[in-house]
Amino acid sequence: MAQAFQKTTCPYCGVGCGVNMVLPSADKDPVPPVSGDERHPANFGRLCVKGSSLSQTLMDHDRLLTPSIQGHSTSWDEALDTISDKITQVVKDHGPDAFAFYLSGQILTEDYYVANKLAKGFIGTANVDTNSRLCMASAVVAYKRAFGSDTVPCCYEDLECCDLLIMVGSNAAWTHPVLYQRIAAAKQKRPHMKVVVIDPRQTATCDIADLHLAIKPGSDAAIFSYLLCHSDSAGVVDQAFMADSTSGFDEALKCAYAATPSASFTADFCGVPLEDLTCLTDWWADTDKTVTFYSQGINQSSSGVDKCNAIINCHLATGRVGKEGAGPFSITGQPNAMGGREVGGLANQLAAHMDFATPGAQDLVQRFWQAPNMASENGLKAVDLFQAMEAGKVKVVWIMSTNPMVSLPDTAQVRRALEKCELVIVSDCKNNTDTTAMADILLPATGWSEKNGTVTNSERCISRQRGLLPAPGEARHDWWAICEVAKRLGFHSAFSYQGAHDIFVEHAALSAFENSGKRDFDIGHFQSMTQAEYDALLPVQWPVPKGQPAGTKRMFADGQFFTADRKARFIPITPVLPQHVSNKEWPFVLNTGRVRDQWHTMTRTGNAASLARHTNQPYVEIHPRDVKALGLQDQGLARLVSPHGQAILRVKTSRATSPGQVFAPIHWTQAFANQSVISNLIPQVVDPLSGQPESKHAVIRLEAI
Ligand code: SF4
Repeated sequence: MAQAFQKTTCPYCGVGCGVNMVLPSADKDPVPPVSGDERHPANFGRLCVKGSSLSQTLMDHDRLLTPSIQGHSTSWDEALDTISDKITQVVKDHGPDAFAFYLSGQILTEDYYVANKLAKGFIGTANVDTNSRLCMASAVVAYKRAFGSDTVPCCYEDLECCDLLIMVGSNAAWTHPVLYQRIAAAKQKRPHMKVVVIDPRQTATCDIADLHLAIKPGSDAAIFSYLLCHSDSAGVVDQAFMADSTSGFDEALKCAYAATPSASFTADFCGVPLEDLTCLTDWWADTDKTVTFYSQGINQSSSGVDKCNAIINCHLATGRVGKEGAGPFSITGQPNAMGGREVGGLANQLAAHMDFATPGAQDLVQRFWQAPNMASENGLKAVDLFQAMEAGKVKVVWIMSTNPMVSLPDTAQVRRALEKCELVIVSDCKNNTDTTAMADILLPATGWSEKNGTVTNSERCISRQRGLLPAPGEARHDWWAICEVAKRLGFHSAFSYQGAHDIFVEHAALSAFENSGKRDFDIGHFQSMTQAEYDALLPVQWPVPKGQPAGTKRMFADGQFFTADRKARFIPITPVLPQHVSNKEWPFVLNTGRVRDQWHTMTRTGNAASLARHTNQPYVEIHPRDVKALGLQDQGLARLVSPHGQAILRVKTSRATSPGQVFAPIHWTQAFANQSVISNLIPQVVDPLSGQPESKHAVIRLEAI
């Protein structure tokens, strides 16, 4: 007899693959097997090794099962009373901005919604930031500058039907493996399809590349600045599209010519062979169906927003947006980085894709929420938030489902910040992480396969995560814990949800509130969705226009954007290199990233023995010439020292990195490998517009041990 299964969504990367999970039964193995959902439009049955190992991660012997205060187990009531009493006191004594949430692209849209509502509408602070700041904040600002809204134009199908795919700042083979598999399969089927990889390292993604440009770290924007010039000089500018649908081309082009006046200048600036750059520009000029696929190598930069806009400029100039197989396509790192954006879960957003600066938005949201204490201006972005904690301005922080002691730059500063806070609340599934060790109050949270809600993947597809297993111990949903605190603060009726469905429906209603006529979206269906419909919700690509229940594959097909005049904006870009450059004292550039089989700080994937087989310990990849010159030994240990801290890592000799550059993965924590935390080395340099840290770039020196 066929086993019964339920559909849910993988909790790891932004591909957002559909997962079938066999329901456990008393007479069968309590660990249910998983498989890919053949009907899910993200993966059509595929799963990468992380996704297919999900069942191994469910048996967690380090599960946080009870609330605790200062290390002593307590009841939920006592923990929640203590939290609400402290919030009341600091808000009374120091104002609402003395409180902050620090959330995660791992939590569900419904959790995000209530946290955002409590902080921005009821406590009165916009200090609601998230580890999504480390993931896609630069892409968000660039989309807003160009399109007037944070809108991803493409869909995954575009990656399969384009004729030229430019992958920049992305090792998708390891970071978004199912998308990479789809691209590789499409290329095999359509051999004329070309793939260009732009990356300082020769990564696994280069295996399918027809051309690899191993650029100087951080020089990406110059490539696209020159591509804009070349589009003009080669006569491939789409004049009709530009006239009807864009503005600002002349200024952007003038800036591009000034910054990258020739191919040879650009090749020299980026450190690539002239013939390789020429090959790219020729392919670009000859190929209408072009997608530029970009990720953290672009976003995690002190000029990440400009890099994104340099890419978008090229697509606007050639009219390659809103069409099949064409567009600028940012790929998010996390499963719900998009869902958080939709409800306003960043410190510089308000709610439902509205910002504090959106005319009338603050009043509209206040009336919808019946909010007594509306925040009126942007809150603090992640790095600024932790600096404000260290300065004693933020006194209570509630960290949810993330491990900033490992993921934020400059661990020593993050430690000082949390030590300075009067109350650190951490909601997590895990008992022992580098961040739970800093908590005054620990709250046991439900995790993947236990919690109910929605996530939105990189192609705007909303999918359900379903609670299929019982919550262990006293673990509770994040939205429930937030609402219980809200009620104790006196906000009963606004937070009296019975479940995730109620929250989703309210989120949809806020999106629709006084919005009729502005957009032709069928929001009404979502806001009147029944519990049964929510439970059965199939993946759907947002937005959902009237008469198209499956949603929207591609945005901007009509050449209309979300600016006041409906025209997209070119942004003048002057490419700059990273803020810190190597010198005599700090002669190496450190690049960071992921390994194939681990996720973030390994709190889940670290439980799966099979996932450790691929890479079982932290390492630093160094070119053999540097290994020899420094007297290091392959597989020996090296000390990496930056102006901010140090780490000890195993040496892996590799020609994938160029001399003078090294690469180290981000995953290992104090809990897994003492003294190997990479964020110790990273400076708190951020993009001035997005606040996204330059986590992929630090200057260091190497010492033999
Ligand atoms: Fe999960 Fe991403 Fe792998 Fe898909 S590609 S199975 S979403 S980790």
